Amino acid sequence: MGEHVATRIDGNAMAAELHARLADEVRELRAAGVRPGLATVLVGEDYPAQAYERRVRRLAEELDCAYVCEHLPGDVELAEALATVGKLNADPRITGILVLRPLPPQVPEVELYRILSPTKDIEAVTPVNAGLLAQGRPRFIPSTPAACFHMLDTYLRSTGRDPATAYDGVNLVLVGRSNNVGKPAVWLGLQRNATVISAHHYTDQAGRLADFTRIADILIVAVGRRGLVTGDMVREGVIAIDVGINPVRDEATGKVRLVGDLDFESVAARAEAISPVPGGVGPMTDIWLLHNTVRAAAMRAHLPHPPEMTL
Ligand code: NAD
Repeated sequence: MGEHVATRIDGNAMAAELHARLADEVRELRAAGVRPGLATVLVGEDYPAQAYERRVRRLAEELDCAYVCEHLPGDVELAEALATVGKLNADPRITGILVLRPLPPQVPEVELYRILSPTKDIEAVTPVNAGLLAQGRPRFIPSTPAACFHMLDTYLRSTGRDPATAYDGVNLVLVGRSNNVGKPAVWLGLQRNATVISAHHYTDQAGRLADFTRIADILIVAVGRRGLVTGDMVREGVIAIDVGINPVRDEATGKVRLVGDLDFESVAARAEAISPVPGGVGPMTDIWLLHNTVRAAAMRAHLPHPPEMTL
């Protein structure tokens, strides 16, 4: 018998496809006199946040969208950070706002989210947009969980399964429950009729993480711990999506490379399909942010919105 080979869920290829589709949508909007515009708020000098800022800046430029980065010093006062968000709320060039994390302690994220304009809140972090998502009628689907489900839907479709029914009753296990990834993924899973289990730090502390990962038909891991989930913790035939990003220094070359939360080789040996890091959720997340920026521009101009690319 040949060795089992899991299908790689290729985020780069899917992102390239969305990029092309989005370029067409932007052209149509520009023809109607509308230009989408993205703003980021970056506080301090966090390396991954800066890298993310550069990636979305490049995408905005490639897609002919306006782009503004408000880069505030790490010791900025809360009042000034709030004033910056207020300024972007009022700026007619800007249709979508991303507040990059981490934020320093004197600038609690909830304070910024409280005043962010819901119509520009493309990551659904404001209470109203998070609530709409929880109720199954999202204004915007936050980029990372949207990326996970777009990848799952596309993969299922490619194997002849209809995403409208393929999740019905299946065990969807989410590891990690952050407000930006794990929790919104719960709502998206429920919307698709999956049986959703949310596991997190306390599940692991209680020694029960493997009890749940082992019963997953679909597994999404978003923690930030290299090799947290190994092959012996998953069932044969699992479909696994790796959100984690962990820098690892290569002893020999001194170079830093990125790995996910799944122990790729051992999980792939049992999985039906698996998304790699890098080249999985990352590029899809970046393009989805622009998708939401474009969607917000169409909504603002009362034009037909680009069709939502998930169920
Ligand atoms: P976070 O730190 O806000 O949340 C981490 C979550 O993991 C928490 O809910 C915590 O309870 C859980 N957790 C911690 N230790 C655990 C353990 N031992 N077992 C089980 N659960 C545990 O992180 P986040 O913002 O949700 O990001 C998670 C990871 O995903 C990070 O590596 C981040 O860099 C990455 N990420 C990637 C993308 C992307 O585009 N690919 C986007 C967002 C986040």
